[in-house]
Amino acid sequence: MDVAWKSFATRLIANQFAPVPANGEIYERSLLLTPENAIFLARANTGKRLIMLERTKNKLFDELKAEEIGNIGEISFKSAELSHANAEVMRRYVSFMKPVAFGRGSFSLGLGDRLGLASPGHLRCIRGTGLRPVLAQQSIRELNLTQRTYEDVLDAASWAVLQEGFQDGFGADGDHLKKAEEVKMALDLGFSMITLDCSEKIDNTVDSLTAREVSQRYAGLDQSLRDRMEGEYLGRTFKVGDIAICFSEEALQRTMLTYGETLAFIQEIHARYIAGQPRPVDFELSIDETATPTTVEAHYFMAAEMVKAGIELTSLAPRFCGEFQKAIDYIGDLTRFEAEYVVHAAIADHFGYRLSIHSGSDKFKVFPIVGQYTRGRVHVKTAGTNYLEALRVICRVEPALFRRICAHARLRFPDATKFYHVTTDLAKIPDADTLPDSELERMLNEQDARQLLHITFGFVLTDKDAAGTYVFRDRLYAIWDAHEEEYANILVQHIGKHIKLLKERLPGGQAK
Ligand SMILES: [Zn+2]
Repeated sequence: MDVAWKSFATRLIANQFAPVPANGEIYERSLLLTPENAIFLARANTGKRLIMLERTKNKLFDELKAEEIGNIGEISFKSAELSHANAEVMRRYVSFMKPVAFGRGSFSLGLGDRLGLASPGHLRCIRGTGLRPVLAQQSIRELNLTQRTYEDVLDAASWAVLQEGFQDGFGADGDHLKKAEEVKMALDLGFSMITLDCSEKIDNTVDSLTAREVSQRYAGLDQSLRDRMEGEYLGRTFKVGDIAICFSEEALQRTMLTYGETLAFIQEIHARYIAGQPRPVDFELSIDETATPTTVEAHYFMAAEMVKAGIELTSLAPRFCGEFQKAIDYIGDLTRFEAEYVVHAAIADHFGYRLSIHSGSDKFKVFPIVGQYTRGRVHVKTAGTNYLEALRVICRVEPALFRRICAHARLRFPDATKFYHVTTDLAKIPDADTLPDSELERMLNEQDARQLLHITFGFVLTDKDAAGTYVFRDRLYAIWDAHEEEYANILVQHIGKHIKLLKERLPGGQAK
């Protein structure tokens, strides 16, 4: 690259001059400099813009929808909106802005971002840790509650990696997808990971049946299927690492009755959408949304059936014992959790995929165990906690607004519990109106208050008044936009604590 050009572009960034509007700011880490051109992100009064310095005509700049905003000699300046169309163009030409699959060997963190604002902070947490970020991670339920689309979610992640100059690759997870058309939509958009949720095919009624009832119902299954499965699973010992797994007759019957229906569904989705993909896709199976913990037999059975069907899972999410409630620490018996986790980790290891830990926000007590037994070959999903930390910004910047949000959350709590299972005790939550500013963050530090604020996010973000105006949304986004750095710093602290504990019992505290 010629030195004069490089020094020109670098000086331009350093001096904050020319095309960036007054009071604007350049994101220095975003600079992409080629011998012909330069491109970077800047913040203007009207929001973030992509600024291009065009020295030589090229296809990327031709395809972006941008306006000419001036020139210095031969070099013309253009400014482009961070629109979906422009994000699509950028993903075609700038490879690190496109999501990638991480495969079976990585240590990754799911970093759901309901606001489309958290990824810059997340990338700063991740950099240098050895972990890999799945930035765009949303379920359909979350999309509906926040009135966003997968385009929005993916675009926010792509622009964030550009802003932070993060070129190591990020993942995009179509989380908890239950329907064929959802899987297709996510893949068509370029998502790199599909988390297939089988809960609609899992029969949760089997848990409450007696052994006798189970065997009666089992007798109704197709004879040849029963013969085949009994031949494969009964009277045998399956070794996974140092652990031996044997199926009792009842265990096999319960497993087949509970999970039997999922098998054809998984195979159909895999054959239609995953098997023929020209690019690698991380395929995760989620069986965590069940009434009771996944048994060892059920986990082994699902894994073995996937192998038989020729399906290579990247990860599997069992339901663990105890409670993984939203945005609070693990509730349950840690000794039992550890004992069962060892076995689940051994099964995953045996079959080559990774365990996936859902609702991983704030589960500090279990993180050292989660890291240790998978030796850092694991995926941990977080989401809601990132919204709560965004509310922390509001609490610090505009306490009066935060108090109104707390009141609104109380009002909407009964509606929110239709979507989320929590054990929130409203009586234990302080009245935000009577808390002085200096104590207001208790609402974000105490368990019951955190849950209240966590599960009502959809209402706070989308509720409108009688005149059809958002009650909070516009003001919230204006504050978050003006306090971007503060939000990033809070996330670095909070998600940083997750990472530190996940790596605590790894050799040298390092991810492999
Ligand atoms: Zn889940």
